[in-house]
Amino acid sequence: MSIREIDQAYVAGTYKRFPVEIVSGQGSICWDAEGKEYIDLGTGIAVNTFGYADEVWQRAVTAQIGKVQHTSNLYYTEPCALLAQALCQRTGMGKVFFSNSGAEANECAIKVARKYAAEHLGPEYATIITLRNSFHGRTLTTLAATGQDHYHELFQPLTPGFVHVDAEKEEQLAAAFQENKVAGVLVECVQGEGGVVPLSLEYAQTVERIAHEQGALLMVDEVQTGNGRTGTLYAYQQYGLHPDVVSTAKGLAGGLPLGATLLSEEVQHTLGYGDHGSTFGGNPVCCAAALSVLERIDEALLAEVQGKSAYLKEALSKLPGVRQVTGLGLMLGLQTEKPAGEVVEACRQRGLLLLTAKDRVRLLPALNIPMELLEKAVQILAEAT
Ligand SMILES: *Cc1c(COP(=O)(O)O)cnc(C)c1O
Repeated sequence: MSIREIDQAYVAGTYKRFPVEIVSGQGSICWDAEGKEYIDLGTGIAVNTFGYADEVWQRAVTAQIGKVQHTSNLYYTEPCALLAQALCQRTGMGKVFFSNSGAEANECAIKVARKYAAEHLGPEYATIITLRNSFHGRTLTTLAATGQDHYHELFQPLTPGFVHVDAEKEEQLAAAFQENKVAGVLVECVQGEGGVVPLSLEYAQTVERIAHEQGALLMVDEVQTGNGRTGTLYAYQQYGLHPDVVSTAKGLAGGLPLGATLLSEEVQHTLGYGDHGSTFGGNPVCCAAALSVLERIDEALLAEVQGKSAYLKEALSKLPGVRQVTGLGLMLGLQTEKPAGEVVEACRQRGLLLLTAKDRVRLLPALNIPMELLEKAVQILAEAT
């Protein structure tokens, strides 16, 4: 049996995989089992921040694996402490809770909002407002938070206490606050799975104003937008927001599973001993990887991300088959004349790996991708759109 056949026989059938078995990679290039070479603009869905098998990242990971691979949270480890310190120093937040994924980072955010509201507004203040077309994860609670009905249908009953409003409609948000006892609002600055749709600056700031006027928490889901992806360390920073809680994961550890929930100074004491936990959360290998990733996301790299973004936006919006380019930094969506799936398949055949998001083609390249590979990718997209 081929690897594809074994996978299809034994791995639960939840993923519609591309007909590609990736066997190795270097930076933004990877090779499949037949030796075909690809430029990868998907980075495992915004996870491989510095591409495949990056040497600096490998050294950080292997050095920690050779010392301590895991301890549980019953003991202190240096990578966990230093990563929490670095995240707080870079954002002005007060404390960090570590987990293993984006969904778990959001679960923690929701728990914090409910506990904080119970203590400050009253126990009936439990509702979380999120946006329609959002994506917050696959657990039963983060599915409830996700504002897309088709994810909900098969798994009722979901966790109660979630209300969805349309983005950019201030009056819907105000009404949701009138009609519910609200603990917090959870938003993505750029809806990723929803089609790479950025919030307007004005609306994002309105969400913050209304939430804070009502004593509710502003929580920003930076699972996809975070860690340099949009041209600032976190997207909320370029929106001028002051969130109480920030969740992140995907690119944080550059290819290892790590979730982080950042808590502002105001809410940092909400979780006490025993209130929350995770066996693997804050794993020293994942944290050592993240420390190395975070160190490299400096002003120079962020300027590079912005420069590459400007190049891609201009070059791609000139292509006759592209109607619109959306997104921020190296998180871009293309509205194409042809169906997105067809464009992605035509590019794959030509050696370029891309993603879709709703009806858009989605690009999430490594932050250090060389310009010449971006130029090649644009050429392939010119042929395929
Ligand atoms: C991917 C994603 C999640 C879920 O992350 P997992 O690691 O798959 O649990 C949550 N929120 C956003 C915005 C995401 O893009």
